[in-house]
Formats: sequence, C-alpha cells, structure tokens
Amino acid sequence: MQSDSHYLKKRFSQNFLEDKSVIEKIINIINPEKNDHLIEIGPGKGALTVPIIKFVKKIDVIEIDKQLVKLLKDNIDDKKLTIHEYDALKFDYSKFKNRNLRLIGNLPYNISTPLLFYLLSYKNIIKNMFFMLQKEVVERICARPGTKEYGRLSVMIQHCCEVESMLEIKPDAFYPSPNVDSAIVKITPLSKTKYKLINDENFKTIVREAFSQRRKTIRNALKMFLNEDDIKAAGIDANVRAEKLEIKDFVELSNLYQVKN
Ligand code: SAM
Repeated sequence: MQSDSHYLKKRFSQNFLEDKSVIEKIINIINPEKNDHLIEIGPGKGALTVPIIKFVKKIDVIEIDKQLVKLLKDNIDDKKLTIHEYDALKFDYSKFKNRNLRLIGNLPYNISTPLLFYLLSYKNIIKNMFFMLQKEVVERICARPGTKEYGRLSVMIQHCCEVESMLEIKPDAFYPSPNVDSAIVKITPLSKTKYKLINDENFKTIVREAFSQRRKTIRNALKMFLNEDDIKAAGIDANVRAEKLEIKDFVELSNLYQVKN
C-alpha cells in the first residue's frame, strides 16, 4: 500500500508490520472464520486488515490518525470494511449489534495497559481478543503468583479471562523497529468468573492498593480497608506481599471488605 506521504507520529506508537511471514503467522493464529465480526484496533496502513478481509463477513477498524484513515479509504474498496476515525480508548464497543465480537490488533504500545482495562468493561460482548503487545506486557498479563511480573494487570485480567501467550516477534518485523520485543496474547473472557465476587469496584480497589507499593506486606498495604485479624480470618498470611496471593485470595479479601462496610 502506498504511504509515502504519511509522516510517522510517535505519539500514536506507530510501528508498522512489514514482515510478510510474520503477518501470515499472526493471521494463522487469529484464524479468522467466515461468520466472524472482527474489530481491529489501530489498523495503520492495513498490514493485517488487507490480508484478513477476504476471510470474514465483516470487519470494523478503529484508527485515530486522520491521515491513515484517508490512506485506508483510498486504498481498500470493500463493503465488508467499516472505518471509524476514533480513539479506541473512548470508543463505544457496545454499539455493535453482534455480541460475539473478536478484537484484534497490533496495539499502540503507549496505551496498551489502559486500553486493556477499558476493554475489560466490554468483556460480556467479546468472544476473544488477539493482541500484539510489548513482550513484557504479555508476560505481565500471563504471570503466575510468586513471580516479579505478577501484578495488578495479571490479577484483573486472569480473574475474568483465560490468557495465553502465543508468539514472540522481534523488532525487525516492523518499520520503524521498536526498541522492545513483542508478543501476541490471546485473551478469552470467561462466561462466568472462577470465584464469586460481591462487588467489582471493591475488587478493583483492593487489587490496586495491594500492588500500589509492592514491597509492603498485605497488612500494611491494605490497612485502610482491613485489619490483620480480618486478613488472617480469610486464611491469608498478613505478612506476605501482594505478589504471593492467588486470585481467589484477592476475591476473598474484597468480599470481606464489602461485608464489613
Ligand atoms: N496495525 C498496523 C500494523 O500492524 O502495521 C499498525 C500498528 S501501530 C503499532 C498502532 C496503530 O494504532 C497506528 O496506526 C496508530 O495510528 C493507531 N493508534 C494509536 N493510538 C490509537 C488510539 N488511541 N485509537 C485508535 N488507534 C490508535
């Protein structure tokens, strides 16, 4: 696709996929099917959009850069494609009639964490998501308790989704090359969470506070919310750090906090 007139915009994290064999591998992982309604975030110049379009019934793309939107409109003439010139962080994903959305994208790395949190609020209408992210972010998403990567992102996503790291990609697959390695993650929202939560907002607060100062013990980190006896009563050692707790422990602590208030 011709793009000579497009100036790279650093603020939009523009690293375009160029390596055809990597693009093919990513499409095989996404495995688009005829009846899928795909939503692509940050299509850029269409590196994924163009080869994927022939497989699916409908694809909506959300791109913030006006110049790239024009480029896509000029270059792709296909009724299956709808282009939204919009910020993916503010887009209303519930406006699609389909309740089985598949979200894909080589995400802008500078907004990937807030975007993932934002998309979790639409998890009930999403079948699955395949995103390329900075490898370190994928490691955090998939991390297990007791590791240094385990944190707020791991707990908030794994509480309501299955996660799987699928493929690592080196910087030379992109132009310009990012300074970091990348990886693809598959995120599948669960129809029912594994542990029953009484209040979502309390869960968010407890998890955020528990990890706000990673070196603090759970007793100190949560002292505004629960006392040591409460934590012990939940069967949790109050002297460990948040990174040692399982997801069910965070659910337990937030349910306890809800009951006490
Ligand atoms: N998919 C293309 C590819 O793989 O070559 C481009 C990927 S590039 C890493 C990220 C894309 O997301 C860019 O096209 C950028 O303009 C777009 N983008 C950045 N911030 C965005 C936002 N808030 N909402 C929608 N698109 C955004």
